Amino acid sequence: MSVAVDVAIVGGGVVGASLAWGMRSLGARLALVDAGDLRAASQGTFGLVWVQGKGLGSPAYVDWTLRSARTWRTLAGELREHAGVDVALEQPGGLHACLSAHEMEARAAHLDALFAQAGVARYDVAMLTRGQLAQRLPQLGPDVAGGSFSPLDGHCNPLRLVSGLHEGLRRAGVRRLRRRVSAIEPSAGRFRLHAGDAAVDAARVVIAAGRATPGLAASLGLDVPLVASTGEVMVLERMRRFLPFPLETIRQTDEGSVLVGDSHEPRDDAALDCAVLGAIARRAQRILPVLAGVRVVRAWAATRVLTPDGFPLYAQSPSHPGAFVAVCHSGVTLAAVHAHALAPAILDGALPPSLAPFGPSRLADVRAAA
Ligand SMILES: Cc1cc2nc3c(=O)[nH]c(=O)nc-3n(C[C@H](O)[C@H](O)[C@H](O)COP(=O)(O)OP(=O)(O)OC[C@H]3O[C@@H](n4cnc5c(N)ncnc54)[C@H](O)[C@@H]3O)c2cc1C
Repeated sequence: MSVAVDVAIVGGGVVGASLAWGMRSLGARLALVDAGDLRAASQGTFGLVWVQGKGLGSPAYVDWTLRSARTWRTLAGELREHAGVDVALEQPGGLHACLSAHEMEARAAHLDALFAQAGVARYDVAMLTRGQLAQRLPQLGPDVAGGSFSPLDGHCNPLRLVSGLHEGLRRAGVRRLRRRVSAIEPSAGRFRLHAGDAAVDAARVVIAAGRATPGLAASLGLDVPLVASTGEVMVLERMRRFLPFPLETIRQTDEGSVLVGDSHEPRDDAALDCAVLGAIARRAQRILPVLAGVRVVRAWAATRVLTPDGFPLYAQSPSHPGAFVAVCHSGVTLAAVHAHALAPAILDGALPPSLAPFGPSRLADVRAAA
């Protein structure tokens, strides 16, 4: 099979599918080539649409995250209208809980440093005492000293997000090839993707293949460094809804299941570690003692798509114009800007100066420092 398109996107996780969503008016002139790995980060994600605390070291990332959270409702509405999927977006605010005076001090210092950065405007987030938080969430355990609360935070159902994007793309006539791309060959200003028995000829290619991105991007002159980081998540049995807002490590889905997670382990395999799961469970029980008697239904581990400084990497190849890469942690949170801002920029053929802070040159500095 051989197809010719204007744009080919490699990877149909949340990042590739969000970018395709922003280009869906191309219809059959757009191809999404996805190997469909069940262990991809997008299949193991926690589902927060989260703002508070992010961006220390990158004022541009503070803005980018805020912009996405503030426009996420539009994306959810589009998915409802054009894919028939409710992604269960709720943005009632979110809590980062602290279990000691020391954690309170560290959190306050983190937020102070975040807002002390040049060019970062303070947004709505406040350190609240235990008493103030207990008025909003009476189930908080006695060990909770307080925490930071921001009305900007929220969560969604990330599996419905990915399947909704795919369904909407199908309805828009976008080609989807369930194949693994083994090589991308530049030829006469275009790109030829080899994917098993299929070949895709494209004027532009976007590599958004999660942790497989570096290997594919290297052949097009793009250096994409990623570091190892695994997170583990547990799902508890359904409970009557009692959490009015998500916490950074505990959230209740629209269906009542409680998700608890997630760890940050410096490894890149998806094995479960019972010691880590135990630590996650103990901390969750201290925050919300009501969880102590609730059964664990399942648990998983997933590896993050994480650059050395934790911020996104968006770039166009200087040696092969028309070839782009997009990798990031927080692909759920950033889904709205990927669809509504990054995708149109890629279609225009150039990333705007506002996205320059997410270019590869700043990682050369990180590497040099390491
Ligand atoms: C435990 C955990 C919790 C997280 N929690 C949150 C959260 O609460 N909020 C948030 O915003 N973010 C969160 N994240 C981050 C978020 O999940 C990721 O940023 C996002 O899933 C990355 O999506 P992706 O599409 O880049 O990569 P992936 O999800 O890895 O998708 C890559 C896709 O590319 C395909 N692929 C790979 N190689 C090829 C190839 N050669 N050819 C064709 N296709 C290929 C794969 O099959 C896969 O479908 C979390 C991540 C983890 C691991």
